[in-house]
Amino acid sequence: MSKIKGLVCKECHKSYPAEAIHVCEYCFGPLEVAYNYDFIQTQISREKIKQGPSSLWRYQDLLPIEGEPTVGLNAGFTPMIHAKNLGAALGLDYLYLKNDTVNCLTLSFKDRVVAVALTRAKELGFDTAACASTGNLANSVSAHAAEAGLRCFVFIPSDLEAGKILGNLVYNPNVIAVDGNYDDVNRLCSEVAGEYPWAFVNINIRPYYSEGSKTLAYETAEFLDWHSPDHAVVPIASGSLLTKIYKGFHEFEKLGIIGAVKTRIHGAQAKGCSPVATAFKNGTDFIKPVKPATIAKSLAIGNPADGYYGIKVARESGGLIDDVTDPEIVNGMKLLAEKEGVFAETAGGVTVAVLKKLAEKGVFKRGESVVAYITGNGLKTQEAISPSLGKPWHIKPSLMSFQDALKALKQ
Ligand SMILES: *Cc1c(COP(=O)(O)O)cnc(C)c1O
Repeated sequence: MSKIKGLVCKECHKSYPAEAIHVCEYCFGPLEVAYNYDFIQTQISREKIKQGPSSLWRYQDLLPIEGEPTVGLNAGFTPMIHAKNLGAALGLDYLYLKNDTVNCLTLSFKDRVVAVALTRAKELGFDTAACASTGNLANSVSAHAAEAGLRCFVFIPSDLEAGKILGNLVYNPNVIAVDGNYDDVNRLCSEVAGEYPWAFVNINIRPYYSEGSKTLAYETAEFLDWHSPDHAVVPIASGSLLTKIYKGFHEFEKLGIIGAVKTRIHGAQAKGCSPVATAFKNGTDFIKPVKPATIAKSLAIGNPADGYYGIKVARESGGLIDDVTDPEIVNGMKLLAEKEGVFAETAGGVTVAVLKKLAEKGVFKRGESVVAYITGNGLKTQEAISPSLGKPWHIKPSLMSFQDALKALKQ
């Protein structure tokens, strides 16, 4: 018996074989992996997970690969921080940060989805990896394709941060910078994917790719001694991550790994690209596409593929979706660094700023546990924060020069 049943349409529930397809032929709904949970139930246990590798592959029983993992063997299992200083500033006793700024190989949560996607792509016989990216995905696909010996094409908007462009080039893939925003890049890639037999991790491999995000929920529950938190605060780009964190907690519940899940899943967007937050606040599930204009480029998807499902998850779980301005994002990045020593990219600033906003609105009760997902590393988005940081003191190499500077500081 196999853990993967096949793919199933999220809308009309028509079944498909577990191939490199992502859209239902009948209703154009998105396809999702269907599992044989009765079989998985006989395989999985807390003890087995604990004895597994220190990577996301300790949850292999719930990931959509048939054989053993071959790509991204060290992805996931990142630190969870009990953020006492930031918690005190926000009036929270049990604030935790899931720190994917140090994920392996490329310092963002995308290493999770790419490890799963490219392991599956190899199983399906592909020799070329590709993606449409807002930045971090291209970095991760480039690095893992190098590791896996796959040919690689990454498509990015041409105005990305320098660190994210360099973070592709160093692995020597084919980097295609498109004059347009992410939504233009994505549209182009859907056409390219129709012409070339490549594994586009977030297009034809998307059903497998997106499952990698569930591991953030599994790791959270394991760290919290097999409990789900009261609240989760999750950044939204396409909305996939948010929906899969919800799915991960509920799978663990279904399999008896954890008790009843009451986690309220909150979404975070930048005001300069907040189609999901806007629809949520308007009480509709119709998402009106926008033209992004924000420093949070990794979240800048104006027409988010899973936005509709993200809204559903927030509503079903009792969560909220909120948005913050660019200055609030920068303040969020600084607050996180100054209170917890974590240097996150702009998406982390979005999450922390929304966390702060929700705390100020009284959404969290004092004794409740809150987990904020910090998904990318600050060294990749230096342009966004450097104008608002201090400068070093410049001195001569003498004690007197140092003491003069110290005096000036004290006044
Ligand atoms: C891609 C990305 C996200 C969110 O991705 P979804 O498309 O919503 O799954 C969050 N944070 C960072 C840093 C990202 O690169």
